[in-house]
Amino acid sequence: MRYLLYFAAICGALVVGLAVVVKFDSDYEPPKRELLRIDYDDLASQDAELSATTESVENEKTDSVRVEEKDADKISESLGEETEKNTVDNKYDDNSDSKSDSKDFFIADAPYTRLKKVDDTSLVNINHRLGKSYEPNDLVCVYDYVDRELVTLHSEHTLADKDALLAFCDMMSAAEKDGVTGFYLRNVYRSYEMQEGLWAKRVRADKYYGRRYKVPLGSAYPGSSEHQTGLAFDILSVTSPEATENFKKTPNYKWLRENSYKFGFILRYPADKTDITGIKFEPYHYRYVGMTLAKHLYENGITLEEYYDSPVHWK
Ligand SMILES: [Zn+2]
Repeated sequence: MRYLLYFAAICGALVVGLAVVVKFDSDYEPPKRELLRIDYDDLASQDAELSATTESVENEKTDSVRVEEKDADKISESLGEETEKNTVDNKYDDNSDSKSDSKDFFIADAPYTRLKKVDDTSLVNINHRLGKSYEPNDLVCVYDYVDRELVTLHSEHTLADKDALLAFCDMMSAAEKDGVTGFYLRNVYRSYEMQEGLWAKRVRADKYYGRRYKVPLGSAYPGSSEHQTGLAFDILSVTSPEATENFKKTPNYKWLRENSYKFGFILRYPADKTDITGIKFEPYHYRYVGMTLAKHLYENGITLEEYYDSPVHWK
């Protein structure tokens, strides 16, 4: 009889558990593609809300840098991240001003709002972050779509947002018609965990990484990388496949710079906008924002931050 009671109790618990899961699922709203406008007037109140929950944010931060060294190496190796940028960044170690900044500045402390939904036009940066659990809902494998006669893939396992990838394929065909070939597709989608691995590697190479006030970064803090949306493409060439500034010397860069907006892509981190984006010049990082917005940004020479009247703010 006692066992029967135990059995009934376990069954009851299972039913309740199942009900909670079903309820949770029915509440889940997948990311939608309709235009998302960020309400910037709301930022101040959200910041206040954030500082009230500093403790939980602190815990999350600690978790996010607690990545096994081996895993971090494996991830960055598979992503083909170069280490050159680390040496470039290291020059700031000799700067006594930035050292004093580092005592009380950490990029993770920058005010931010958590994006619940993301679409082509969303601004994702240190002030507009994605959660650990955010995953795009329309990821496909680039290998299944890209004409590999036109584009060399860094990895056959790379995932990308489907609409953005279709636009990328159109763009590559147009480049070929203009006589520009030999593109190399490096990174597209990166999960939050992959970004944590990259960040941990940067911090291992440079303990002041992300701790120098207003110094643009070469790698985004976890949650603030556009790669987590599947909409950011690191496009290089077989003659210059490393993610460095060298790519800007290639005809592929010149062609992308002049034509990518026609296919909905913008150069996301231009050299003259690093104080607005917070990210170093990346001649290879293109973000799909859709054709209408891309044309607007290109013709006005502005970044996504300027479009939303929200230059990156650190404090
Ligand atoms: Zn990139």
